[in-house]
Amino acid sequence: MTVIYNLSIAANATLNMHSLNNEGGEGNQIQTRIVTVVDSNGRLHSVNAISGDMLKHIQAEHLYYLAKGDDALPLCKACAIFDANRMSADPDFQQFLKGKPTPVQVVDRLLTCTLDDIEGNLVTQGNQSVPRKSVVEFGWAIGIPERVSTEQYFHVKYDPDRREIPTEKAERSGNLGQAIFHRPANSGQYAIIVSVEAARVGFNDINQRYAEGVDREKRLKALLQSLIYTFVQPAGAMRNTQNPHIVDVKGAISYTTAPAPAPLISPLNGAFVDEMQQVAAAMNALHQDRIHVLPFQSLAEFAQIMQTLIADAQPYTFTQ
Ligand SMILES: [Zn+2]
Repeated sequence: MTVIYNLSIAANATLNMHSLNNEGGEGNQIQTRIVTVVDSNGRLHSVNAISGDMLKHIQAEHLYYLAKGDDALPLCKACAIFDANRMSADPDFQQFLKGKPTPVQVVDRLLTCTLDDIEGNLVTQGNQSVPRKSVVEFGWAIGIPERVSTEQYFHVKYDPDRREIPTEKAERSGNLGQAIFHRPANSGQYAIIVSVEAARVGFNDINQRYAEGVDREKRLKALLQSLIYTFVQPAGAMRNTQNPHIVDVKGAISYTTAPAPAPLISPLNGAFVDEMQQVAAAMNALHQDRIHVLPFQSLAEFAQIMQTLIADAQPYTFTQ
């Protein structure tokens, strides 16, 4: 049995020719997402990036498919159809709010649903303002400076008539006729960070108690499994024609078996694995063998380490 309090993943992922995250379009030109970051020498760089929201959406969708049809991973009526509003859009929950429940009761109700528990929610209906903080946290996937590139490619939706602009307004708005468009493709190495607060699975932060009737072990295992799937299949935008070429994933998984943060250093720092191991060694001098760091050299090795952890994983339980 491996008790997990906190688990972190730092990964340097090489992806080619993807368009997983875009800002939007201007005319027929789709704009990729560009952010500014600072390297360890304090220099600014503009790089392509994939937002943490996009990564979390990808992970949540994998968890949804794992939970769907599994009685031990219950979903509320809204999450059963993967409604982004989660339980706030469940009519049974809206009815429950009319009974003026306390914030503790609202969170206990949210914890009955696997997705509301793991991914979080903010209930604002019925004069409430009750948060459920997510158990899983993502940072942006950031292109590593000088190791990432974005190019625009020209595409045509070909029409044998070759009428570039249909004369009929209805045809124009109906996306009929020939159309040209420019679409970005990004290639490079990306720094990805993820953290899982395993001890908080099924935990009501307001009264500091675990909700009853929650299979915490099963939820944690499903969450860790969805994280493997997120790296194996990053199901973001434009995958119909720009399914990312996953070339390599390297990095480290860290976890703690009792209260202590699992060390997490961004792969924007080239020495991140060494530094995570050094932080763990320093922390283990304070707490004997509480912190573990497992480096991986490939996606296969990442999946194997995660699978071994999942087989034995038990979420840490705060003593009540
Ligand atoms: Zn739900």
